[in-house]
Amino acid sequence: MKYNYTCPYCKAYLLIENRLILTACKEGEDINEHGLLLLMNPEIGNYETLHHKEVKVVAGEKYHFHCPVCQHKLQSDLNENLVMVNYTDEKGKHFELHFSRVAGQKSTYKIMGRSVETFGIDAPHYLDFMNLMGMA
Ligand SMILES: [Zn+2]
Repeated sequence: MKYNYTCPYCKAYLLIENRLILTACKEGEDINEHGLLLLMNPEIGNYETLHHKEVKVVAGEKYHFHCPVCQHKLQSDLNENLVMVNYTDEKGKHFELHFSRVAGQKSTYKIMGRSVETFGIDAPHYLDFMNLMGMA
């Protein structure tokens, strides 16, 4: 079984071939006018992201991420700077995958119940929320 990414709201599959497909827009902008497509490397901890060459993604800027199918905002409930999608591993185990919505920030959290795995050099940045929840 191959791993999968799905939308937490409509359950659509977001992984096609070897790309996690999401839509996004810069914070403060309307996704219906300034939305963009992101093709992300699905390997956890790999932050390679493809977008159209006319699109400028500026490091340090915040983006809102949306499901490309149902358009729901993929906001994490753990921290306002994190995005959340559902992740199922090769063994069929379900996780919540939370990652930073700040461009260039490398912080990802793979969460099941109270167990958290962290990825990326910026992961300590958001560890406070886990301390607060008694998870770390
Ligand atoms: Zn959806």
